[in-house]
Amino acid sequence: MTDLTSLTLAAAREGLANRSFTSLELTDAHLGAIEAARGLNAFVMETPDQARSMARAIDAKIAKGEGGPLAGIPLAIKDLFATKDVRTTACSKILGNFVPPYESTVTSQLWRDGAVMLGKLNNDEFAMGSSNETSCFGPVVNPWRRDGANTTLVPGGSSGGSASAVAALLCMGATATDTGGSIRQPAAFTGTVGMKPTYGRCSRWGIVAFASSLDQAGPIARTVRDSAILMRSMAGHDPKDTTSVDRAVPDYEAAIGKSVKGMKIGIPREYRLEGMPQEIEKLWTEGAAWLKAAGAELVDVSLPHTKYALPAYYIVAPAEASSNLARYDGVRYGLQVPGRSIGEQYENTRAEGFGAEVRRRVMIGTYVLSAGYYDAYYLRAQKVRTLIKRDFEECFAKGVDAILTPATPSAAFGIGEKGADPVEMYLNDIFTVTVNMAGLPAIAVPAGKDAQGLPLGLQLIGRPFDEETLFSLGEVIEQAAGRFTPARWW
Ligand code: GLN
Repeated sequence: MTDLTSLTLAAAREGLANRSFTSLELTDAHLGAIEAARGLNAFVMETPDQARSMARAIDAKIAKGEGGPLAGIPLAIKDLFATKDVRTTACSKILGNFVPPYESTVTSQLWRDGAVMLGKLNNDEFAMGSSNETSCFGPVVNPWRRDGANTTLVPGGSSGGSASAVAALLCMGATATDTGGSIRQPAAFTGTVGMKPTYGRCSRWGIVAFASSLDQAGPIARTVRDSAILMRSMAGHDPKDTTSVDRAVPDYEAAIGKSVKGMKIGIPREYRLEGMPQEIEKLWTEGAAWLKAAGAELVDVSLPHTKYALPAYYIVAPAEASSNLARYDGVRYGLQVPGRSIGEQYENTRAEGFGAEVRRRVMIGTYVLSAGYYDAYYLRAQKVRTLIKRDFEECFAKGVDAILTPATPSAAFGIGEKGADPVEMYLNDIFTVTVNMAGLPAIAVPAGKDAQGLPLGLQLIGRPFDEETLFSLGEVIEQAAGRFTPARWW
């Protein structure tokens, strides 16, 4: 029998339905792979007992011909999602050993549909980062290495554990969140598929908040079809999240294989950056050619406010973060460092509990929201945000169905290589943050490799709530580019 961990989610679903293997066998195969891959540091909590008992329960259901769309599929969960009775930390010391008495809406929908939880995945602290180096549990290692070298590379961030675990065949899919690129950038760095849905498509309830007007949950998976399967379970209206949208959830999988003939694909000139590596440029041209060969029409488009997206994001996101993170005061959750007064207790707890990047964001956020600077920074950034959104609206109004761009400006870099200057790290999100500012859906699909053998991704940006078109187009790229699997060395 082939190694069960190398199956796609779709193939495993079939194998389970045909009774070729049980969920317990599939789960055990993954638990073994996780144990053998501890050096990647993708998991911050393994839940083998829970996994086996969920698998047994679903096997009993499958035997009776019951079980939902994800019956028996082993998944792993970013540690930003609250999981009932299982420690949830956002990879921050300040949450300590916080064990939620509730389950996030997105994960509860996965369990409702029959999925099995393998454990919780590492991420940047409070999802702030692009390399998974800010986690209090230490960095995650990318299962990819440069040809002929053994430098350890970052998997991207903040959903680095999700991307690394999916690429290394430790789970069949993972949950992730994206505030400025945290699903798409790690997917691009690991040869996996990352879908950031439209803002409001998935409930944010029970997900540790970073920047509430930008945060969105979505899947990281090994194929476009697998991510469409996961999306259907993750999406949906939730009265507990007032920003979640009451719209029927389509059968995303039905979009796979649909003709893209006649679709108009926008190529935005502002994404052609000065000094962009030749191989990214080449990848982009190649991706456009694949879509054209499938019958799509390429059109040049302009998104003139693109250059303001990153600076505006780094005002809006820290502003919201500083407000959201005010709740970590040493009284209600996790860590508590006493002081002589309640004020001193707050100070001690927050100084000790937050890492350097989180402290930086809280300080920037507090500054841009302060009385004297609010208009100059926060208000202005919000206005820029409206202009960015309008750029996209004008583009779609001209009949453009989706926009094709590179997913990242480079391939994965080495652990410890970037970060001395935070702006160098922030530049990773240059192609992804605009989408969050505009609330749009976007998918990152592996499309090629760089000269050193590392995967590179392309991004497709869609109209609001038109994830289906992205799945159809994404699959065309996947068919042309093939699948990307790292050689096992760990
Ligand atoms: N890298 C970006 C940041 O640090 C985005 C992170 C995210 O999407 N969660 O804010």
